[in-house]
Amino acid sequence: MGGLMSPVDDLIARSRRLGADRRNTNYAGGNTSAKGEAIDPVTGEKVRLLWVKGSGGDLGTLTEAGLAVLRLDRLQALVDVYPGEEREDEMVELFDYCRHGLGGAAPSIDTAMHALVDAEHVDHLHPDSGIALATAADGEALTRECFGDRVVWVPWRRPGFQLGLDIAAIRRAHPQAIGVILGGHGITAWGDTSEECERHSLEIIRTAQAFLDERGRAEPFGPVVPALQPLPPHERRARAAALAPVLRGLASTDRPQVGHFTDAEAVLDFLARAEHPRLAALGTSCPDHFLRTKIRPMLLDLPPTVPLDETVARLKDLHAAYREDYAAYYRRHATPDSPPMRGADPAIVLVPGVGMFSFGRDKQTARVAAEFYLNAINVMRGAEAVSRYTPIPESEKFRIEYWALEEAKLARMPKPRPLTSRVAFVTGAGSGIGRAIATRLAAEGACVAVVDRDADAAAKVAAELGTTDTAIAVTADVTDEEQVRAALQAATLAFGGVDLVVNNAGLSVSKPLLDTTLADWDLQHRVMARGSFLVAREAARIMIEQGMGGDIIYVVSKNAVFAGPNNVAYGAAKADQAHQVRLLAAELGEHGIRVNGVNPDGVVRGSGIFASGWGAQRAALYGVPEERLGEYYAQRTLLKREVLPEHVANAVFVLASSDLSHTTGLHVPVDAGVPAAFLR
Ligand SMILES: [Zn+2]
Repeated sequence: MGGLMSPVDDLIARSRRLGADRRNTNYAGGNTSAKGEAIDPVTGEKVRLLWVKGSGGDLGTLTEAGLAVLRLDRLQALVDVYPGEEREDEMVELFDYCRHGLGGAAPSIDTAMHALVDAEHVDHLHPDSGIALATAADGEALTRECFGDRVVWVPWRRPGFQLGLDIAAIRRAHPQAIGVILGGHGITAWGDTSEECERHSLEIIRTAQAFLDERGRAEPFGPVVPALQPLPPHERRARAAALAPVLRGLASTDRPQVGHFTDAEAVLDFLARAEHPRLAALGTSCPDHFLRTKIRPMLLDLPPTVPLDETVARLKDLHAAYREDYAAYYRRHATPDSPPMRGADPAIVLVPGVGMFSFGRDKQTARVAAEFYLNAINVMRGAEAVSRYTPIPESEKFRIEYWALEEAKLARMPKPRPLTSRVAFVTGAGSGIGRAIATRLAAEGACVAVVDRDADAAAKVAAELGTTDTAIAVTADVTDEEQVRAALQAATLAFGGVDLVVNNAGLSVSKPLLDTTLADWDLQHRVMARGSFLVAREAARIMIEQGMGGDIIYVVSKNAVFAGPNNVAYGAAKADQAHQVRLLAAELGEHGIRVNGVNPDGVVRGSGIFASGWGAQRAALYGVPEERLGEYYAQRTLLKREVLPEHVANAVFVLASSDLSHTTGLHVPVDAGVPAAFLR
């Protein structure tokens, strides 16, 4: 742009450095800006611009596309048309009239603060140490004690145009100040250069932390309560796995949720100490925190050694009470133009001695909610160490939670994919059809446990699908009862439960009756008949506890109904699976669990079974070269089309989708049309 020095590179580098350290700001929290000159391509004149991090996204991974680019003269002119605090929300629309060109990313609510503060560089951050001072009962006095006149206290005010004006006025009135503590919320710092701004931000964050450490009392959360101490790790995990489906079901009362579990030391310590019930009830304070964690968590008030059924009964009562409390909170504060209540289930459930369960519409949302509650624990620890933790009033939390601007932000969120919020468990997913199914389900929004006997294959496929927010690798031999139980436990701990199980693991040995050994027979029945039974049984236990219905889908075979040549062991094992579909559909219907099957045939390319020798055997049997086997099968079909693993995956997706919500006990052929295998 005309050879002028752009501050954008410095701004992005600074933002990433600050965002890389969670002590500086929470995930996706805070924003940074720089001002500078550019040439207006229309007039050829120099103009002053503001580059400011836009709405959404994390500072740690900020790119130029994440910046809003606005004309500073026009932003500053907004002061003259500002209609006052009562109508400050109207200013957000006017930001669109201040864009430079297309203007980059959508400007956030904090844009006014960055524009109006007279400094070339501005950081607004949510550091735990800064919020600890910001939520201390005597935060103003503590800020003075900690910083003298270098950092100024700003009483709580909702983010917006007025807060921007307030901070700009403070900057003018306190030329020696490097920034402010925003009551109940976070910090803002400024500098003449990017380097100076970053230095000032870090000075505030680190000085506040040192102050809390030095001046704070020991045991801010009170003494340890012996009965609430953490269970040993193995028992804790088992307890968490037992509770997770129950909690996921409760948290999904209004809409389906994915779960996340953590037994981080900071959580277990908080929950073992005497003051945690009082503090948990006060809820979180920073707007970023409570938008993700709800205004307060649900807390179990029993020790971890109480029998499981008693604990479950208590959790159900507490959940009912939580929903009533939340509805009452909504009624207390809602005005006629408030958006409707968004759901009364908790996002955070605290279980002393075990850990924290968190919930969201996908795994990332659930995981980030937990991260934010950990931020809130740090904030409470700091505030209680030097004072009394005093979050912003409930009425202010409501104003933000049900703010028209927040509602608009939620409306802009991408529509959920068809399988968003669902947790899939696919056996034999390390290769072939299983891999194709796992891939399709993940692409449709599901979280996927990629289960395979081959640990490397499972890990490779899981990594292909994305981060652990999308898929985890689980090693298990489906013939082993203990391994199946452990595999479902792993999926439950990772995603809160399971509701879409695909019995795909299989193998095939094609031999005439007289050549079929007992070992051939047993192996195929163990993997397919017994393995499917074990997986279905353990999965059904979890689904029934969850109370969210679910799907169990069997990848069967044309050979379950068609008497293929020289195929007694495989065909009989497949027929066993096919009948499991009908039996379990009949038995599990009352729990809303649908059980269906897919009958593929002739899947050669990409199939693990064919690669392992079956292809060569079948090719020899039909007298065709192995590499032409797919073509040969295709020519036998009505549609003359070769069946690929993706076609089987498509059928699994359709069976699991809500469009077939009233279908159970069905087998879908995916064989390009084989009249001998028509179902009747
Ligand atoms: Zn903020």
